[in-house]
Order: sequence, then structure tokens, then C-alpha cells
Amino acid sequence: MEKLISCCGLNCATCDARIATVTNNDELRKATADKWRVSYNAPDLSYKMIDCTGCREEGVKFSHCDMCEIRNCVTAKGFNTCGDCDEMETCALVSGIHKYVPEAITNLRSLN
Ligand code: SF4
Ligand code: SF4
Repeated sequence: MEKLISCCGLNCATCDARIATVTNNDELRKATADKWRVSYNAPDLSYKMIDCTGCREEGVKFSHCDMCEIRNCVTAKGFNTCGDCDEMETCALVSGIHKYVPEAITNLRSLN
């Protein structure tokens, strides 16, 4: 389960994109795309792009997650997540996520 906490602390286990992928559920892919088009101001997002096995799991990634700066930073530093980084509490990059999803920082703290 620990590997389903993403580099920035999101819980991939509860992410609709992962659930739709592992259950191969096109209805959930369509509902997720409808929701994310609005929430992320991404009018071109097609339900066919909703495919992700999780940030730190092997397999396909949602396009944004595949080029995520936070994920790249964690990988470049050889960490598992931002929870391994001494700069986590002050990092401008990851604070952009933690500001909107406070649960993510709690998830990272719980890993240590
Ligand atoms: S990495 Fe994939 S499963 Fe995890 S939060 Fe991002 S889209 Fe969802
Ligand atoms: S510098 Fe920021 S994004 Fe990079 S590993 Fe540390 S906390 Fe994460």
C-alpha cells in the first residue's frame, strides 16, 4: 500500500484514474475526464488519456504524471518520495500540491 502514496503524497489508491485503469472501466474513465476537464481547465482531455497505474507503480502513467516536475525531482535525488527530502516543509514545488491537498503532506509524514 505504501507504494500507492505518490512522490508528492497523493493517494493513488483512491484516484479514479488508477481505479478506472486497473478495472478497465471506460464509464469511470469518461466520468473522470468530464471532472478533470473542468477542475484542471483542460478542455482537450479525452477519456482515452485516463490511464495510470500510480505514480510509483510500474506501468502506464497519466500524461501529466509522466512529466511531473516533482516526480522527476524525487527520482533525480534518488528518493522514494518527497517525504525523504529535508526540504519538504519549505519546498515551493511540492507546496503547490500540499496547499490544495493537505492530506498529501500527512501521507508523506506517515511514511517516515
Ligand atoms: S500518479 Fe496516477 S494514480 Fe496517482 S494521483 Fe496521479 S493520476 Fe492518479
Ligand atoms: S526538492 Fe521538493 S520536489 Fe524535490 S524531492 Fe525535495 S521536497 Fe520533493
